[in-house]
Amino acid sequence: MRGDNELIKGEYVKFRLQLMQNGVDVVMINKAWDFAVLAHHGQRRKTGEPFVMHALEVGKKLFEWNLDTQTIVAGILHDTVEDGGALRQDLAEGFGDPVAVLVDGVTKISNIKLRGSKNEEFIENLRKMFLAMAKDLRVVLVKLADRLHNMKTLHGVEEGKRKRIAEETLEIYAPLAERLGMGQVKAELDDLAFPYVYPEEHEKVVSLSKPYYKNTEKDVDTMKRKLLKVLAASGLKSKVSGRKKHLYSLWKKLERPDIAWDFERIHDIIALRVLVETAQDCYKVLGIIHGLYKPVPYIGISDFIAQPKPNGYRSIHTKVFGVGARIIEIQIRTWTMHEQAENGIAAHWAYAGMKLKKGITNDLLDKRPFDKSFTKLSWVKQLADWQKEIKDSSEYMEAVRFDALSSRIFVFSPMGDVYDLPIGATPIDFAYSVHTNLSGFVKSVKVNGKIASLNQQLSSGDVIEIIKNKNYKSPPRDWLDFVKTTQAKREIEKSLRKVGA
Ligand code: MN
Repeated sequence: MRGDNELIKGEYVKFRLQLMQNGVDVVMINKAWDFAVLAHHGQRRKTGEPFVMHALEVGKKLFEWNLDTQTIVAGILHDTVEDGGALRQDLAEGFGDPVAVLVDGVTKISNIKLRGSKNEEFIENLRKMFLAMAKDLRVVLVKLADRLHNMKTLHGVEEGKRKRIAEETLEIYAPLAERLGMGQVKAELDDLAFPYVYPEEHEKVVSLSKPYYKNTEKDVDTMKRKLLKVLAASGLKSKVSGRKKHLYSLWKKLERPDIAWDFERIHDIIALRVLVETAQDCYKVLGIIHGLYKPVPYIGISDFIAQPKPNGYRSIHTKVFGVGARIIEIQIRTWTMHEQAENGIAAHWAYAGMKLKKGITNDLLDKRPFDKSFTKLSWVKQLADWQKEIKDSSEYMEAVRFDALSSRIFVFSPMGDVYDLPIGATPIDFAYSVHTNLSGFVKSVKVNGKIASLNQQLSSGDVIEIIKNKNYKSPPRDWLDFVKTTQAKREIEKSLRKVGA
């Protein structure tokens, strides 16, 4: 035990040193830390580590993403109620209601589990449900930091459970990180889950890719040195590095029919990455590169600066004939674009907070074209609204709530499929969204295992079971008084016309 205490203290002291240099409220974080140490006293993780080290890792990650004090505090405290000895009341009194609400939100979304259908539509609904129940973007960020550390320590969990957790990570958490533009987190989660979900495929990719990584590395290194020299001579301030393709995304690419496991067709197993100050510099660098190495015709250039990807990703990619005629991809972007590609929405959050602290002008925010592309993703529209609100007011706290999703609820079938319904929807609306015909067989309904009325308003997370009659009966007219979805209304009216009622 004595050894534990020293370990815990030592790790925290290192973290506190960083905190002090970065303008967060160290007093508050110290307080949260002392609270967590007490709440998790004597508890251990399955890996054998003191439990509170998990809380520390989550807090550190959130700090790394430049999040505000409340979020870091919530990260340190996120398991103190669920797994530790604390009460919600203690959190509200000690750290304020917003922190208690954040911790609550983390607990709530932790209970959403991948079960039932693997159908992409249902999984997408599950992701939406996740955001809707989180209500505040920061809750999702705490949960992502939590999942990241849980995945790093998954080896400690019982073998039977590992695969399910890893699957959930691949199906829910990594895509969520991707939709929030957090490329680095997505790639990390994918790679951590990969060996647990697809052990044989993982092994195969690791062993087959080894020589390719090795050979490409040599060539890329030669090109890097040459490029650095030329860029320095042109007076451009730049950083050039080689980035290795993550294993899971390499596997996905190898599986594509146009690649068919031919490594020679993969040009970004190690890509060169050039970071510069401005978008204009990016195009200058592109010109310089094409002067040195010829672009590959037709597949050469993708300009994601002029046309960002739907999740906001910006960069110029060019494939060139490099050293030894090997085709190499080079990615050119500004430091800001890079930060956003790695940390996405978290980078924005940090930026919005900074705006308040350091008086960054609206004008500067306007110049950042990143968010426009969000509107292309229908269910991430609310994030675009968020951006608008940041421009309008300094109340950025309000702006990260998921307004568009707050008018929806997400409910489960007994099989675990998720259905997306408007607020106020009833079991009859649910029946119509499962199958138009089902409603004619409704005898009664159970919500969360208990008999409920047909017009009861459902809430997110409810499990709805329709108990069926043997024979079809035309739906009664009074259902029209309470159904919410247009689909249900239309279908009821249609069957009433049919029977001439
Ligand atoms: Mn946790």
